[in-house]
Amino acid sequence: MGAQRDAHFQLMKRLLVIIPLSTILILMILCVVLGVNLYDAKRELRALRGQAAPAMAENWTAEGERLSRELYTASGVSEFRRDMSDADSAVAGTEDGERKVYLTFDDGPSSNTGKILDILAEYNVKATFFVVGKEEEKYQPLYKRIVEEGHTLAMHSYSHKYNEIYQSRESYVEDLTKLQEFLYDTTGVWCRYCRFPGGSSNTVSSVDMHELIDYLEEQDMSYFDWNVSSGDASSVYISPEAIVRNSTAKLSELKEAIILLHDASGKESTVDALPKLIEQIQSMEDTKIVPITDETEPIHHISNE
Ligand SMILES: [Zn+2]
Repeated sequence: MGAQRDAHFQLMKRLLVIIPLSTILILMILCVVLGVNLYDAKRELRALRGQAAPAMAENWTAEGERLSRELYTASGVSEFRRDMSDADSAVAGTEDGERKVYLTFDDGPSSNTGKILDILAEYNVKATFFVVGKEEEKYQPLYKRIVEEGHTLAMHSYSHKYNEIYQSRESYVEDLTKLQEFLYDTTGVWCRYCRFPGGSSNTVSSVDMHELIDYLEEQDMSYFDWNVSSGDASSVYISPEAIVRNSTAKLSELKEAIILLHDASGKESTVDALPKLIEQIQSMEDTKIVPITDETEPIHHISNE
């Protein structure tokens, strides 16, 4: 009996050692397995990031310059926002299945405005011009032509000088009011659509952009950013082919596309790209090119709150 109890005691003693030891061993093995998994996952993530980065950079580095990159990088944000509401509208069911494409020209009038208007007329396409203030006699007929030919005349900035307009809310208001009155005197149109120079997400404004957005809302004006960048903002040469490519690459994914283009001297590529661009858009199914109206759902790079 004594020997048996002794053996039993020995077994218990052994178990008391074995159980904690094996538990520790199992935990250690688990740690190693999980560690290896984590390492693999991290390596995969790094590889994926490596693939994504050049693809993302491509849009910008091809013909981008530092400043335009700084000012226009926000388009990625808007694409995301647009995609979100696309999903919403797809669920809600839109009235018609048509894709709306807006050709928007910033910075005019210029030595190219006439050519742009001619091409638009040739294709019977209406666009939107976010203009600046130019008092010189030669530009006056161009403001009028924009209106007379059925395009939307919209406001960009009178001076387009970032360091002046974005100094304070007052300086922005002063600049915009000057443009609004100038355009009214020139064309008889009281403009209510705006585009901030550099977009609402520009990084150069000393004023919180929300303050300026609030002002526009108070005045019953609306502002429009873009969700497609043609890439012609760059001061470096960009080929017409690249403009067409940049402008159309993502169109099929969008229900509404506001394309950023420029009407400025020195940007002949934009003029040269225009016929091809229009043809390519018109060849897409259920797609029409329209000017900005009250019906347009604005694209905003930053939220209104
Ligand atoms: Zn501009």
